[in-house]
Amino acid sequence: MAWQRREDNGISYYYSELLTRFSWLAQGFSARWPELKVTERSTKGSIGELTEKEAEAENRRHFLAVFGLTADQTWLLKQVHGDVILAVEGPPSPGTTRPEADALVTNGRGVGLATIHADCVPVVLVDPVRRVIGAVHAGWKGTLAGIAPKTLDVMAAKYGSVPSDCFAAIGPAIGPCCYRVTPERVALFQKKWPQLDWEASRSNSTLDLPRINQELLVDYGLKPTRIEQSQLCTACRRADFYSFRREQTGQRMLSVVVMK
Ligand SMILES: [Zn+2]
Repeated sequence: MAWQRREDNGISYYYSELLTRFSWLAQGFSARWPELKVTERSTKGSIGELTEKEAEAENRRHFLAVFGLTADQTWLLKQVHGDVILAVEGPPSPGTTRPEADALVTNGRGVGLATIHADCVPVVLVDPVRRVIGAVHAGWKGTLAGIAPKTLDVMAAKYGSVPSDCFAAIGPAIGPCCYRVTPERVALFQKKWPQLDWEASRSNSTLDLPRINQELLVDYGLKPTRIEQSQLCTACRRADFYSFRREQTGQRMLSVVVMK
């Protein structure tokens, strides 16, 4: 079992093989977007390129379509590196601004949950018993705050999810190979989460955020066999992903999950 790459609708993306056992679920993480062609702008009677914003919307539209979603059916957040988790019942109301939060949960079918990434860890949570899903954006601040286990708290409180029933897919993110930090930051994690295996990393100048999230989920009660790491570093894999650390670009990847 591993994360796999697929091409569909002109879009390349990765998905967790572990989650493919659920026929009622669709899940993916976008790779680099295709370069959009110069488009004729008939309204202005001239030929020009799409603006960056238009190109982004166009690419997202194609990506979401792969999962049977429209932009109107899909929640996007104003991510603020916090630990606010939003439970949603249905698709966003038309014209609403993106709420400030870093994770989403729902038990609604056809409700797309999307998070935006450029190195930060995407965590997709699935409770197949209660039919609840969660989508988490966990950068270093969110990981330190325990946003992934806190999202499971919300799933438990609101929908009765039991940790040992749940599955998790941890997607492409910056790996310990590339994520160099100060010893002070590593110490923050060791102090907040002493129960994790800090011997394994043997470094006081790098952080392995995907592994820390995985350990937090196991600590919370998920079975290790029900968690799948992508082992894909967004900073190393230049041909596949954008990386904020590497490029300082505005380009972002999208993680999406939906119950059909
Ligand atoms: Zn790397």
